[in-house]
Amino acid sequence: MSTMKPSLPVIDPPRSAPNMVESLAPPSSSQKSRLTNSPRANMALRTVRRAPRFIATILKQRWQCDTGPHSLTHTTTFKCNYHCKEICDSPLVHQAMQKRPNGHDLSTEEIKSIYAQLPVMDYVRFTGGEPTLRQDFIELSHLAEQYLKPIVIHMTTNASLPEHVVQFAVERPVHVPLDLMISIDGVDEKHCASRHHHRAFERCMETVRELAPRQRELKLNIRINQTIADSDGIEHYRKLHDLLKTFQVRHQIVMAYSASATYAVERDKSYAPTREELFTPVGEFQASELEQFFQEVRQDVQKELSGPEKWIQQYYLDGIRSRMLRNEPSPNPSCVALSSHLRVFPNGDVPTCQFNSHVVGNLRLQRFEEVWRSAERKAQHAWVQRCTGCWAGCEVQPSAAYTGDLILHQLIRR
Ligand code: SF4
Repeated sequence: MSTMKPSLPVIDPPRSAPNMVESLAPPSSSQKSRLTNSPRANMALRTVRRAPRFIATILKQRWQCDTGPHSLTHTTTFKCNYHCKEICDSPLVHQAMQKRPNGHDLSTEEIKSIYAQLPVMDYVRFTGGEPTLRQDFIELSHLAEQYLKPIVIHMTTNASLPEHVVQFAVERPVHVPLDLMISIDGVDEKHCASRHHHRAFERCMETVRELAPRQRELKLNIRINQTIADSDGIEHYRKLHDLLKTFQVRHQIVMAYSASATYAVERDKSYAPTREELFTPVGEFQASELEQFFQEVRQDVQKELSGPEKWIQQYYLDGIRSRMLRNEPSPNPSCVALSSHLRVFPNGDVPTCQFNSHVVGNLRLQRFEEVWRSAERKAQHAWVQRCTGCWAGCEVQPSAAYTGDLILHQLIRR
């Protein structure tokens, strides 16, 4: 366990060690039936048992049937101890939410009650803000395992508090593989300037140094997600890639888009792309430098990744390249937002997707069934089905998987 001490302010610091599920009320008999006796041994079985549902979902999605949800992105808080003005300006989002009635974050008990109403999920993704700022950030992973039975738990973090990230990796249900995504914008000052904190990069590297050698032991897959906002970011990709080689962690890119409804101060905003403008980057790039850069990243992916992880990165690269260089939507899977992919905001709101924060219900105030069967959800799902299609990784991946487009794309590439 790390002995590092946080030097950044923790907005909502742990008052005590995070509680494990033993401290919670015993589950009901129906909940018990969803628990396994030896979870470590049963993970493979869980994956195999989920396969028929996955195949049925692909068929339903391809026929544009309503379905799901099968995967959860839970934004557990908008609180953040950094201030990434160019990207999300999280403190402002948090303040805006707090001013609304019902704007405060769900309590642990409220989340427990919501998870108990949801169907099992293939993956549960914790994000924010910064998810490790919640005092119950470890307990939530145990609640997810108890009620949602994911095949993978994912956490996106800014690694501002390395000791919290390490604690999460060690104390979450370790039999469930953890996909840990650390957001970095560049090397040294580049990242620090972007996050407005002089130790931001050092904190990320402390986390990597601590956890990289323990990936196998902890069933952990560390991915460094570099946001490319400008030409300088391309140069930093090269530097960061060299630096990370010694740690055996994955390094991937995401091109920064100009606006996201999730991080808009106003709620009920849509920033969905149009056919005329499929992808609006934050910075300006020369077509030739982008062409060369995408080629370079593709070669790294080919050399360093394998299996579904390689397919997903190739899929993202093909899509971003065709959008940024030719304004062509290819590949372009049907979107599974509000069907196979459920998003929950910190106050229980269920938004439409990353680019449309129109809320279809609130899980603090309503039962999940009520929200899912509501005319509001169905109307927004119809909007999703008509959408031109965006290219943000966290929306693209579920859409590519649950429509089968990821597999088809691989077959076509060969
Ligand atoms: S493709 Fe889906 S996630 Fe993207 S803007 Fe459209 S509805 Fe939202």
